[in-house]
Amino acid sequence: MRYSVSLSFASAVVAAGLLVGACSDDSTSTASTAAPDSTTTLPHWTYEGEEGPAHWGELSEAYATCADGSAQTPINITSASTEALADPTFDYSAGTATVINNGHTIQANAPEGNTVTVDGVSSPLKQIHFHAPSEHTIDGTTYAAEVHFVHKTDAGEITVVGVLIEEGTTANAAWQPYIDAMGVAKGAEQAAEIDWAAMLPTSKMTYRYAGSLTTPPCSEGVSWMLMETPVQLSADQIAAIVAAYEGNARPVQSLNGRTVQMDSSEG
Ligand SMILES: [Zn+2]
Repeated sequence: MRYSVSLSFASAVVAAGLLVGACSDDSTSTASTAAPDSTTTLPHWTYEGEEGPAHWGELSEAYATCADGSAQTPINITSASTEALADPTFDYSAGTATVINNGHTIQANAPEGNTVTVDGVSSPLKQIHFHAPSEHTIDGTTYAAEVHFVHKTDAGEITVVGVLIEEGTTANAAWQPYIDAMGVAKGAEQAAEIDWAAMLPTSKMTYRYAGSLTTPPCSEGVSWMLMETPVQLSADQIAAIVAAYEGNARPVQSLNGRTVQMDSSEG
């Protein structure tokens, strides 16, 4: 490992208490994120203008890490050290998700019982949400969208699996239940029967690095695993995603000496 897992996990525990927003795993924060100008003590933020990403760190002391953090997400992946890494093991089963519109993205909250296991640590899936266009770029290439599968252990360790989306020629049936819920109104909930495992690319090879939440408070200590293989959705499916939210992507951040690892082989 090129970065300290124990250190990043410790930071994640600290970060866990601050979670709000699109990259949060906190499904109970629905009310505050759906009505950001009401009772929350944390300021509203956006993706453009005076409350946009360039100003997040100035909006609140609680968001300071967005400006002065040194291990922020997303990044442009231009090189990676090849390592013999075991693929993450996904123990996902189809079930009923609760889909909400949190004011920044459409988020599908997962029921209990779905986990990813990495290096012997099992981490429960909390929710998925999207950014359009993608937040991560690969060799400067931006993808149509990126979906984050957010996992969090009881100890507060956060692992986010990123799936890049590109346009293909046919509709991807596994993604349709989530896409069918894209019209859910702020403050409302919609049930969706989601087969989480089927939404992942066949190859489970990933880029891995230590990063942060990509929304305020931009807390660091997040273990990132970006799937190397995008999934393909039809133009209509991508259009439905973009119609819900477009431009909800944080610009890429400085690598600051971090090393990105990539799998050397399948399996
Ligand atoms: Zn995200």
